[in-house]
Amino acid sequence: MEQESTLEAQITALYREMGISERALELGEAAEKKCHDRFRRIDRIAEFNQAKVLKAFRDNRVGEAHFAPSTGYGYDDLGRDNLERVYASVFHTEDALVRAQMVSGTHALTVALFGNLRPGDEILSPVGKPYDTLDEVIGIVPQKGSLAEYGVTYRQVDLLPDGSIDYEGIRNAVSERTRLVEIQRSRGYASRPSFSVEKIGELIRFLRGIKSNLICMVDNCYGEFLETIEPSDVGADMIVGSLIKNPGGGLAPIGGYIAGTRECVENASFRLTAPGLGKELGASLGANRNFYQGLFLSPVVTASAEKGAIFAAQLYQDLGFHVSPGPEDQRFDIVQSVDLKTPEALCAFCRGIQAASPVDSFVTPEPWDMPGYVDQVIMAAGTFVSGSSIELSADGPMRPPYTVFFQGGLTYAHAKTGILMSLQKLMDAAVL
Ligand SMILES: *Cc1c(COP(=O)(O)O)cnc(C)c1O
Repeated sequence: MEQESTLEAQITALYREMGISERALELGEAAEKKCHDRFRRIDRIAEFNQAKVLKAFRDNRVGEAHFAPSTGYGYDDLGRDNLERVYASVFHTEDALVRAQMVSGTHALTVALFGNLRPGDEILSPVGKPYDTLDEVIGIVPQKGSLAEYGVTYRQVDLLPDGSIDYEGIRNAVSERTRLVEIQRSRGYASRPSFSVEKIGELIRFLRGIKSNLICMVDNCYGEFLETIEPSDVGADMIVGSLIKNPGGGLAPIGGYIAGTRECVENASFRLTAPGLGKELGASLGANRNFYQGLFLSPVVTASAEKGAIFAAQLYQDLGFHVSPGPEDQRFDIVQSVDLKTPEALCAFCRGIQAASPVDSFVTPEPWDMPGYVDQVIMAAGTFVSGSSIELSADGPMRPPYTVFFQGGLTYAHAKTGILMSLQKLMDAAVL
């Protein structure tokens, strides 16, 4: 008992030294208490996924030799080839492409799309507009080299006003030319909910009922390891994501993945390198160890980020802010938003996250005119890997209702500290 109170006093004293007041801590403790049962469930999912990943490592006999770097063409890169088998084992797919040469999530999605579509084909997005960066890839916004320029057309069915899937609209939208369906699991930066794997499975079964030979591709960004199953377990032909989000576990310094059927992965690989060369080439340089170790840590890192998001949702909801998703809602991605109501509050929040970052804690984020955005944007990111959003990061456009989107946290303890610091900055700015 005495030991406990000493520990609590030590924690409080250290937070005080970092500028977090007792009032902020009390509010935090009260919010955290309400989250315990939800955290328990998330920890059990992480335990399952940790075992799933470990099993894949064992089944594929990962060994020291797989961490060796390769250079040049990268023929016979044993570590890279085995890593792709490990990904295929984790996601229960026939094959996978896991490469440093895929420079971002958008690039991985682009490789998957271009590799698997041909002139005259049509893409269907049955859950509203896809992630913003795909606008120019698909040609929704005209751009040189877009799929549209190659004669691939695009069609979209929006979600119904209540956020549910418009099955009737989808039935009417599927045509002879519909070749590939792109389903985004995460909400991204939209106000719609994220989709459960089960829901994605229902949608895929429905689509296959209309047309059996559709390629069903899932943008899996931010969704990996939130559940015990992945979209590839419910019929997706391809799942695609970024290694500087969930599956890189914070250690992958770059990269993307495409896991799926042998044919889809081969088509993508022919686009990534060259027709006929495919997966044979592509030096991993020195990245293999971090790819393996990051994947190994990913289930727990992802769970930490999710717990941080729930903690924030609870805390800010208790303070009277509108949060999405709500603290009790089921989650299928790691993105959290809070409507902060005023520009001062949005800036204060981001400054708190920045001040609690392990890198660049001394920097003060300011709103700026980001190319391609109508409103100014403020961003907080003090990450080890540049732009990594599995690490604690926040951003928001400077317009009502001054919504901050944030995600990540390599450890729950850090996510919690960052969120407490955000609260403190709101108090300091007297907007609370
Ligand atoms: C992040 C993200 C992308 C694009 O990834 P980048 O690495 O930023 O190019 C695509 N879709 C969703 C849902 C994402 O969250």
